[in-house]
Amino acid sequence: MWPSRNTKKAGRTRTASNDTSEAAAPAPAAGAAAAAAALDPGLEAFKALIGERRFTCTQCGKCCTGAGEVWVSDAEAANIARHLNLPLARFLALHCHAYSRVEGFRLLRSNMDSETRDCTFLRPDNTCAIHPVRPLQCSTYPWWPELMDDKEWQLEKDTICEGFDHAEAPPTDLHAAAQQLKLATIQEYQKRLAYKPSRKQSKKAAAAAQQQAGSSSSSSRTVKAHGAGQAKAGGSSSSNSDVSWQEKLRKLQGMLDFEG
Ligand code: SF4
Ligand code: SF4
Repeated sequence: MWPSRNTKKAGRTRTASNDTSEAAAPAPAAGAAAAAAALDPGLEAFKALIGERRFTCTQCGKCCTGAGEVWVSDAEAANIARHLNLPLARFLALHCHAYSRVEGFRLLRSNMDSETRDCTFLRPDNTCAIHPVRPLQCSTYPWWPELMDDKEWQLEKDTICEGFDHAEAPPTDLHAAAQQLKLATIQEYQKRLAYKPSRKQSKKAAAAAQQQAGSSSSSSRTVKAHGAGQAKAGGSSSSNSDVSWQEKLRKLQGMLDFEG
């Protein structure tokens, strides 16, 4: 399975841009920002994905609360450590998990003193203790590629963020939002490329690929009889989700002119 920063199963995303005053000024990872500048594919496709979506942050703090995943790149970790006046090694030991399957990225620890295992940087007043240097994952919310899908947007709205399509949300600054979406997309793509599956996951993926190859070489009559949906349903849910991500990545590659 791909690493996910969207943890709906746990009932939470760790994201908060819970200060709207800086919504248009993300603190991008140096690598992602450089990649965005170098690629400069234009923002029109991203604006189209955003469409009519609107958002405002009510500072409810829900997206930073409870068990969830916040990823920081090595560059972001160094930046946050500097901001906190901590040696990098100390910052990593205190605030990050020691091991990550995504090379160049770490997961922030949860605050084990909080009953709900909130983000280690969430303050009691629902503000972020590292707001000026918060991870790109947080500063780009909700302009994430996975949320530009209508169903995902709705699910996030229903389960986590009351600010989606909020009645008092101002008209979306499409240019700023598209820039954030572009940065979030590039970083997500980089994370997925850097993901190292466990041996068990690799074996499962290989078995699913083999199964899929087997089913696609079966008679066309079977496929016609059951339809495309049924033909796909032979794989496990994780292989289906990988297939869906491959499709999404192909689209993103087209938009960003990436070489996959
Ligand atoms: S859940 Fe939404 S409204 Fe609440 S703090 Fe997070 S971004 Fe803001
Ligand atoms: S780093 Fe800040 S914005 Fe991000 S999840 Fe933690 S408290 Fe929320």
